[in-house]
Order: sequence, then structure tokens, then C-alpha cells
Amino acid sequence: MSRYARSTEMFNESKRYLAGGVSSMLRAAAKPVPLFFDSAAGTRITDVDGNQYLDYGLAWGPLILGHGHPAVDASVRRQLEKFCLIGAQHRLETSVARKICEIVPCAQLVGFNSTGSEAVHLALRLAKAYTRRPKIIKFEGHYHGWFDNILINYHPGAETSGKQLTSEGQSERVLEDVYILPWNDLKILEETLRRHQQEIAGVITEPILCNSSCLMPAPGFLEGARELTARYGAVLIFDEVITGFRVHPKGAQGLFNITPDLATFGKAVAAGYPLSVVGGKREIMELIPKGRVVQAGSFNGNPLALAAADAALDVLSAEGGAALIRTQQTGDRLKRGIEAALAEAGIPALINGVGTAFHISFTTAQKMSNYRDTLDRDDRLRDRFIEGLLGEGIYLLPDGRWYVSAVHTEADIDVTLAAVRKVCQAMR
Ligand code: PMP
Repeated sequence: MSRYARSTEMFNESKRYLAGGVSSMLRAAAKPVPLFFDSAAGTRITDVDGNQYLDYGLAWGPLILGHGHPAVDASVRRQLEKFCLIGAQHRLETSVARKICEIVPCAQLVGFNSTGSEAVHLALRLAKAYTRRPKIIKFEGHYHGWFDNILINYHPGAETSGKQLTSEGQSERVLEDVYILPWNDLKILEETLRRHQQEIAGVITEPILCNSSCLMPAPGFLEGARELTARYGAVLIFDEVITGFRVHPKGAQGLFNITPDLATFGKAVAAGYPLSVVGGKREIMELIPKGRVVQAGSFNGNPLALAAADAALDVLSAEGGAALIRTQQTGDRLKRGIEAALAEAGIPALINGVGTAFHISFTTAQKMSNYRDTLDRDDRLRDRFIEGLLGEGIYLLPDGRWYVSAVHTEADIDVTLAAVRKVCQAMR
């Protein structure tokens, strides 16, 4: 009987009713089969076959405080006693907005939505309205959600079809409003901004390229982008949906000490509940109350999500952000331990990223600095590694990404590294 028999059965059953048997296409990539889960607590998750795992997927990032953090749960329960949705104003909106403005350097005012895609949608609209220019610069391999005007040049399927669009059904007209550039190349960025200054509203970037192998910005790149966008009157947008409230108490803008004009947040900000945020310069954000930019959504200001965020932000910002600083260190030890295990087994691999979010590429490359560099890798080795770890009770995302939460313990890391060494030895 397979270790994943019940999951396999449930997946087959689900596919009869739910398109593809998964609720987001990336989840279909999980091997040997997309798992079904029964319960979760802290850093542990249990599937329907009774297998327990240490969770490094963290629901693709949001669970920065693990599963069922007592402070978050208590806050949500208190709110549930009052109301779950009101479609009007309530105290938690002000409380969370104030906390974010106090924590995030670029946030003089904020706006709430539910998903990262919506936050990006709002940020792009704000940039275009503010500058009265129509176009955006985005970088190859960066993901900013699944809406038509930005799901462009994400991963290479689209490129091989000769187009930059990622999905059928997207209007080709959206390509007219975007310049797609290689990341970490200031020369091309400057040239494009200079040549097309009158039409470029903004530049959007993941400050760490978490969606393509967790690549780091080259030294000086984000500083240069900050300087160039200011010089050419374009809005600099950091998409911090992954990095926010994860890589540093103040997000990537705190880690790199660079303040964008606008930033988008999602995932970790509400520790597992659906909340997204745009924070930015007052004069840009004020286009919303002025009625020039429309922001809407039935679920905006979601009381349960804000209750979760209200508690999560307190935990994350206590003692000067000590929780996340410690998490970086825990994650760093894990990252270094995995590097050592791979090297000891003679498996060529490269780990990119930071302690709280990193990625393993099975490759002989010594360095990667943009999306094209990530294509030269052995995905079969990666899949063997991930499946081997799954068998040892370690759960990762199917692309080889690891997320570490503030509740992963040193003991969790010890258990994980023992499993990693075992799997690496078996793969030699
Ligand atoms: N931006 C980035 C950087 C992301 O990683 C994601 C989601 N992975 C999004 C935007 C979109 O967020 P959501 O899935 O909540 O719509």
C-alpha cells in the first residue's frame, strides 16, 4: 500500500468535480501526488494517510508564525464573537493601518484588499494615475499575481510560444503597456527609462526574486533603481508580497535600507488569513480619497483577516522585531547545513536567498543573477530530493523553495538536517 494511497484516492475523486483537483495551478506540480491534509499545529502538518511532516511550505509563505499561533487564533476568535464581515468601518482597520505605517518605511498611508494580485493591481493603477503615464517596466521571471496586465513573462512556457503572455485568454493588447527587462541590469534599465521617459509610469520588482530561485539583487541594483526612477519621474514599486514581514521586520526595504514609493504586501502580514496591503507615499495614496483612483472589494477590511494581522504584527514587532531576526538565524543554520550535506554527497547545487526564504537549484552554476541563469538546472534531481525528503517527513514546495517560520525550533532544524543528509547520501 502506497504511503500516499488515501491522498491519491482523494485527488482522483476531487478531479471529478474540481477542475484539476487543485485550487491553484501551481499546487498540481506536487509529486508524487498533490497531498490532502487533515490537521496542522505549529510547524507540523499531517496528511490524510497519517504521515506527519515538518512544514517548510508554510502555505506558500503566509504562515510566518506557523499553524494555529495562539495569539493569532485568540484574536480571530474574539472578532468572530462580534462579526465576521460588516462591509463598513471597524476599529481593527485603524489599528492595523497604524501599525503598518509605524513599521514599514515607505508606508505613509495604506489601503487593504484580500490578495496579493489585487494589491499589485492597485499599485499599478496608482502609479499610472499619479504620473499620468501608461506603461510599466517589469522584469523577466518576476511574478506579481495572475491578472492580465502583469502575468507576463513569468516562466518560460510563454516565451517558447513566442509570446510573453503566460495564459491563454489574456489580451495581447496588455503587452503594449509593459516593457520587460532582464533583472539586475542597471544599464538597460537606465536606457529604457531615458528613451521612454514620457510613457513609463513605474518600475515593479520583487526586491528578492523569490518566484524564480530566490535570487538576490546585485549589489547596487536596487539603489540604482531607486535613483533612476526618481530621476525619470517613475514610481518605484517593491512587490513585498513574499518578502514583507518575513526577510526583515521592515521587509526588504528594511533589509536593504531602500525606500520605494509604493510597496505591496500579502501573505505573512496576516499570518495565514487573506489580507493584502498597498502602502506608500501620501501624495500617491491620496489619489484614492480624491476619487481619481478606484479601489474596491466586498471583502476589503476583512475583520477576521485584520484580527489576525493585528495580533501577528504585535508578535512580529515585539522587542524591535526580535522574532524575525531570530528566524533569519535559524533559517541560516538550516541553509548552511543543507549546503554542507549536498557538498558532502558531491551533489552539485546552488542555494540562493536568505534564511527565511531560500531555494535549491541542482546545477553546476556557481552564481545566478537573473531569470535566464536559473534555466540551466536539473529538475529531475530536484524532484528526487523533494520526494526523498517527503518520505522522511519533510515537506517543501514543489519548486524547491524553503520557507522558515518564527516557530521553527533548533530541534526542528536538527531533525531536518538529519533527513537532508540521509536523502543526499541516497542520491549520490
Ligand atoms: N506578488 C508576489 C511577489 C507573489 O509571490 C504573489 C503570490 N505568490 C503575488 C504577488 C500574488 O499574490 P496572491 O497569490 O495572494 O494573489
